[in-house]
Amino acid sequence: MDVSGRTRSPGPELLSPGGSLEKLRIAFLYGADAVYASGKDFGLRGFANNFDEKELAAASRIAHGLGKKLYVTVNIFARRSDLEKLPAYLEYLQELHIDALIISDPGVLLLARQYAPEVAVHLSTQANTTNSLSVKFWQEQGVRRINPARELSFAEIAEIVKSSEAEIEIFVHGAMCMSYSGRCLMSGFLNAPKPLSGKDGAGNPARPYVMNRSANSGFCTQPCRWSWGLVEEKRPGEVFPVEQDGRGSYILNSKDLCLLEEIGPLMGLGIDSFKIEGRMKGALYVASVTRAYRQAINRFAKPVSATGAETAGMEDLQRISHRPYTKGNLFAGEQTGAPDVETRISYVQTHTLAGLVRSGQEPGESPACSEGGKIFLEARSRLVPGQILEFLNPDGSTSSHLLGSFEDTCGNRLTQANPNTLIRFCVDFPVFPFQAARVCN
Ligand code: SF4
Repeated sequence: MDVSGRTRSPGPELLSPGGSLEKLRIAFLYGADAVYASGKDFGLRGFANNFDEKELAAASRIAHGLGKKLYVTVNIFARRSDLEKLPAYLEYLQELHIDALIISDPGVLLLARQYAPEVAVHLSTQANTTNSLSVKFWQEQGVRRINPARELSFAEIAEIVKSSEAEIEIFVHGAMCMSYSGRCLMSGFLNAPKPLSGKDGAGNPARPYVMNRSANSGFCTQPCRWSWGLVEEKRPGEVFPVEQDGRGSYILNSKDLCLLEEIGPLMGLGIDSFKIEGRMKGALYVASVTRAYRQAINRFAKPVSATGAETAGMEDLQRISHRPYTKGNLFAGEQTGAPDVETRISYVQTHTLAGLVRSGQEPGESPACSEGGKIFLEARSRLVPGQILEFLNPDGSTSSHLLGSFEDTCGNRLTQANPNTLIRFCVDFPVFPFQAARVCN
C-alpha cells in the first residue's frame, strides 16, 4: 500500500525508449519492464529510427516472448490529413496486441477508442496534465495511465498520485525541453523550407512556421541546443558571437533530467511507471540508463534501507554522453516551472560505445555468442589493441577486458577494427547477445 492508501503493484514499471529493434532488445536485456516505440507515422521524434509495420510486429513478438510490454506512441497533435490515415493504423496496432497506445490529442483518443478499443491508452506528457481533476477527466475518457506535465513539483505529483485512480507515470531521466511540456514552435519556425511572401526585418524572405518540421509533429531539430549569435538589422551576414565559452552560447540549453538519487522518495509515492526519455539516443545510453534505474528500483524495493544504492548507477550515468544533470522541476520547489539552463557547456562525454556482443549467428537469434572460447563483438567505434573495454552486465557490475589481439570472422588477425565490423577475441567472463561494451574516449 502506498501513501495514498491504494494497493499498487510491488514496484514501479521501468519504461525505456526503443528507438530501434536493437535498442529494444538492449533495453529488455538491461531490465526494462516495457519499451515505448513509434511507427513511421504519428509518433513524436520523427527522426528516430521509427519502426515500419514489420518491425512493429517483431517488436511485439520480442516483448511478449520475454513477458514484457510494448507501448506505441501515436502522440502527434493531428491535422486533418492525419485523421484519414489513423483508423487503419490503429486497427493494425490492435492486431499486433500491443500493450498500450501513447496519445496526446483528444481527437486521436476518440479514434483509438473506435478503431482499437481493446488497446489501453496512456496519455503523453504533451497533453499537459497539471492537476488531479484533469487526471479524472482523462480517466473518464477511457485513459488508463497519465504522464503529467513535466513542470510539476514533487508535492504536486504526490497530490495527484494520492487522489487519482488512474495509473501515473513520470519521466525520471533524459533531455528536457525549454518549452512547456514539449509544446514549441521554434523548430517549425526556424526550419521552414519555403519562404513566405514578404520580407523580414533584414530584407530577407520571411520564414514561416510550418508543421512539417514542427516539434508537435515529431520533427524537432532542437534549435534550443544550437549555438546562437547576434545580428544587427542593418548588417545582415555579420554575426556577433555571444560566447559563453569557446564553443558558443547555450542560453536556451536545458540540463538533462536525472532522478536516480531520488528513486527512493519517488517509489514511496506509489508512482506506477518510471519513464526514460531518449528514443533518438544510442545503444550505450539505453543500456547504461536502463540498468542504473533497474538496479536502483530493485534495491529500494527491498525492505532494508538502500542508502547509497544509487552511487554505482550514477557512475554509469556520468559515462554516457549527457548535458550536466538536474533534478528538474520536481525538486525545484513549488511553482517554479522554469527549466534549469546550462549556460556553460553543451555535452559531457567521457566514454563511447565500443561495440555490442553478437551471437555469431543471426543477431539475437542464438543464445551462443562465443565460438571456440572467442566472443563476437560488433565494433561501433574504432578499436585498437591496448584499449580497456568495459562490458556492462545486467546486474549492474562491469567486466573489464584489456583488448589484445583480435581477428575478423575469417580468422585474419587485425591491427584495428573499424565501426560496424565484426571481430572475435577471447575474454575470461561470460557475455550475452546485445551486451554493450564501452571504452574511454
Ligand atoms: S526546440 Fe528545444 S524546446 Fe523546442 S521542442 Fe525542440 S527540444 Fe523542445
